[in-house]
Amino acid sequence: MLPVRPRIDYDFRIETDLLLLTFGPGRLPRAVVSSAPGREHIALPAGIDLDSETVQQWLWRVLVAALRRQAEAILPERLSCLAGTLRYHRVTIKDIHTRWGSCSSLGNINLSLWLMLAPSHLVDYVLCHELTHLREMNHGPRFWALLDEMTGGRARQLEREMRHFGHEKSLFLSCKVPKGGV
Ligand SMILES: [Zn+2]
Repeated sequence: MLPVRPRIDYDFRIETDLLLLTFGPGRLPRAVVSSAPGREHIALPAGIDLDSETVQQWLWRVLVAALRRQAEAILPERLSCLAGTLRYHRVTIKDIHTRWGSCSSLGNINLSLWLMLAPSHLVDYVLCHELTHLREMNHGPRFWALLDEMTGGRARQLEREMRHFGHEKSLFLSCKVPKGGV
């Protein structure tokens, strides 16, 4: 069975302690986006038919673009703050569905734009997780000890919470977000 995405209408919103993203009716024949870090409002074209499947597909692309804009405005700066003296090469925001983030042996960090659905403490957990991979590429005992240092001894607990969150969100967004690992 094909996954069914949630319907986007004027009541659709994403609200976390990092982001308030809302849709609303507009007066112009085109969409008007008001965007600032942490805040996004999309006034939809006047007279738009929200029941049209084509419109829903377009709204989904508008939503993904908005989440990407917010992720780019918020995540690199947050990563830089958490990194302290740790050095990474580049951070890239991607529409990844299979994981929240990844870190290459060259020090490139990729982050899923779907992280913007998560509360700040889980976002920070993922950022710390990827930063720890700069020091330890695997998920062995040393990795968890280092991640514990960055998270006040809560690494395993936060990992469990992130997995649970991914499971819940994947139900909400019909398998469009990572269910598990970082
Ligand atoms: Zn990892």
